[in-house]
Amino acid sequence: MFLILFGPPGAGKGTQGELLATHLGIPKISTGDLIRAAVRDATPLGREVKHYYDQGMLVPDAVILGLIAEVLDRPEAREGVLMDGFPRTIPQAEAVDRLLAERGRAVDRVVSFVVPEDELVQRLTGRAAEQGRSDDTPEAIRKRLQVYREQTAPLESFYRSRGILVEIAATGDIAEIGRRTLEVLGR
Ligand code: AMP
Repeated sequence: MFLILFGPPGAGKGTQGELLATHLGIPKISTGDLIRAAVRDATPLGREVKHYYDQGMLVPDAVILGLIAEVLDRPEAREGVLMDGFPRTIPQAEAVDRLLAERGRAVDRVVSFVVPEDELVQRLTGRAAEQGRSDDTPEAIRKRLQVYREQTAPLESFYRSRGILVEIAATGDIAEIGRRTLEVLGR
């Protein structure tokens, strides 16, 4: 199963992704985690993208597509992957289609986590205090929500028109949101 977790920053894609990936027995790929690891280790790629990351901007599509192509070629990704935080732009979505088609696969479902914006800001601000992510400053949080609205939200109609988008009300109890998601997926 090739599954995309979709939603704004702070919607709980990471948390729900862990639960889902375990339940479904497929690997979770988080492009945000891959970017954070590269920035932390100051790899050449990490140094190239650090300023985008710190300001809450998207890193260039070409960088992300290189990472994804590499992950899709891993043996453990052959039967399915749960994509968290990817795709985030229309060109990225078109590229996923291409990369999967080349492997005889296609996106099966897109799970969209819906959370009101004032709760997102609260969650992201709370996480900033707990985890100290360098992109959880108030300016970067504002920027990430703006980038989401402008560049990522259009993907919703892209997938809705294809009939593969399902919406989950992602507020309240974490385990309950997980159960709702599995139910919608028929698992
Ligand atoms: P996340 O942890 O998914 O919220 O991602 C954190 C940051 O990593 C984003 O603000 C971007 O700078 C970068 N990033 C993660 N995924 C992508 C993506 N698919 N396209 C572009 N930038 C990304």
